[in-house]
Amino acid sequence: MSITGGCQCGAVRYELARAPRRASICHCRMCQRATGSYFAPLANVESSDFKLLEGTLAIHRSSPLAERGFCRDCGSPLTFHYTDLADISVTIGSLDAPDAVVPDKQFGAESTTAHWHLLHTLPASTTEDDMPVEWRERMKAERR
Ligand SMILES: [Zn+2]
Ligand SMILES: [Zn+2]
Repeated sequence: MSITGGCQCGAVRYELARAPRRASICHCRMCQRATGSYFAPLANVESSDFKLLEGTLAIHRSSPLAERGFCRDCGSPLTFHYTDLADISVTIGSLDAPDAVVPDKQFGAESTTAHWHLLHTLPASTTEDDMPVEWRERMKAERR
C-alpha cells in the first residue's frame, strides 16, 4: 500500500512506499514562516521511501542544517529534510488523506503561539457555508 500526496496545483505529486515512522507538529519560527501557519505538520519516512511521481521539488535552504521542498508553481510547502540525515518529512496537509497520519509529538514548543490552545474552540463553519452559490459551483470544478 502506498501513500500519495502532492501540491495544490497538481504539478508535483509524490508517493511514500511505507507508512510514516513518526509524525509531529513543529511550532518553531522557521516552520511558522515556511508554512505561513502556526505550526508545520510533518510525517517522516526514510528518503528511499519517498518518490516523486510528477514534477520536481524546488528547494529552499532554510538553515545551515535543513532544506525545504516546495512547488515552484503554486508555492505549497511539501518536504523538510535535514541534509545530514537519510530521512525526509512531508507536510501532512499535502497528503491525499491527511487523516491517515496521526501526530504524536510537538516540537519547537518555545515558539507555540499564545492562543494555540484556543484554536479548537473557535466557532466553525464549512468552506462553502458563507459562499454565494455561484462560487460554490466554481470551487467544485477546481477543488483538489
Ligand atoms: Zn503546485
Ligand atoms: Zn520547525
